[in-house]
Amino acid sequence: KTYESVALIVGVTGIVGNSLAEILPLSDTPGGPWKVYGVARRPQPSWSADHPVQYIQCDVSDETETLSKLSPLTDVTHIFWVTWANRPTESECCHANGAMLRHVLSAVVPNAPSLRHVCLQTGHKHYIGPFETFGKVKPNDPPFTEDMPRLNAPNFYHTLEDILLETAADRGEQLTWSVHRPAVVFGFSPHSMMNLIGTLCVYAAICKYENTPLKFPGTPAAWNCYSVVSDAELIAEHQIWAAVDPNAKNEAFNCSNGDVFKWKHLWRILAEQFGVEYVEFDEREERVRMVERMKGKERVWEEIVKAEGLAPTKLEEVAVWWFVDVILGGECMLDSMNKSKEHGFLGFRNTGTSVVSWIDKMKGYKIIP
Ligand code: NDP
Repeated sequence: KTYESVALIVGVTGIVGNSLAEILPLSDTPGGPWKVYGVARRPQPSWSADHPVQYIQCDVSDETETLSKLSPLTDVTHIFWVTWANRPTESECCHANGAMLRHVLSAVVPNAPSLRHVCLQTGHKHYIGPFETFGKVKPNDPPFTEDMPRLNAPNFYHTLEDILLETAADRGEQLTWSVHRPAVVFGFSPHSMMNLIGTLCVYAAICKYENTPLKFPGTPAAWNCYSVVSDAELIAEHQIWAAVDPNAKNEAFNCSNGDVFKWKHLWRILAEQFGVEYVEFDEREERVRMVERMKGKERVWEEIVKAEGLAPTKLEEVAVWWFVDVILGGECMLDSMNKSKEHGFLGFRNTGTSVVSWIDKMKGYKIIP
């Protein structure tokens, strides 16, 4: 079979990587037919095995391993960067994430003569600053637009952008790039380091099992404000658009659903999906963070997995409590999708239906009851 394009997805089992792996090989995907390589450290999980992807187990933080496993991929035309490394401080994040990207580019760029484009996924922290400076550094004034100046704080997103732009400049006009900045991502992946909706589903399942109402673990600001999120499939479509459309070259773009919602409304949908009692947020009650609330629930999750015949997972794999505490800890900041639209990307998602489709998918793969 001959291919028009050859993708290398770095982070293929992640929350966006999994959607890219699903969409790229489809017969009607722009730029296709696509051959797809996908990289992650763990062995290929059963829920990703349906995708026609050549799976490569490789730790891209290891320079030697990356060179030996990725330099033979001489036919790669597009790289999709949908991975990251979490470290205790942002300066360590800059170091670790920068090294990962350099390792992959050094293995692929000199060996893949047809490499045309690199999509780099970063996110809203470009405008807000890294987790460690939340509340300390003044964020950009929302709604975020792509031309806003960088904040004066270390940020691994800047490190990645700089490395990518340098590499592209060295290659001349032959290599183009795009940067994609989603808000919180709604998607499917039990291997994601930040899966908000998956974690909330696990929380709802635990509430149901223990016969307690679904209490909102956030703040009044988060309950009441307008929020935006980014559907993982929409982000994959956005990256594929940028990979093939000349109007999207060498630009950064926000990528969110294109609507707004309130957690107080979404909370009812979540409760309904699990048949658990919905309760209004009681603003007088003292906030108990998820990290506290869910301490010691590993056993309960084991029991649920067994009782419901779920795919075997450990609680710490499918529930990222700290992330819920961060995201539901304050007011969401909105972004603008004008630039994407002006450059020709008109995709959108209805967040209310998007959330239900991801819950259905997680149920379908027996990740949650
Ligand atoms: P995920 O955490 O969902 O997925 C990470 C993927 O990378 C997994 O496939 C993981 O598999 C793989 N991986 C991790 N480390 C390595 C490594 N050393 N070598 C090879 N593969 C590795 O990623 P996201 O999509 O969440 O994150 C991508 C970017 O998007 C980040 O910069 C993040 O900050 C940003 N973002 C994420 C949001 C979210 O809600 N998730 C919101 C906004 C922005 P394995 O562990 O098996 O290696």
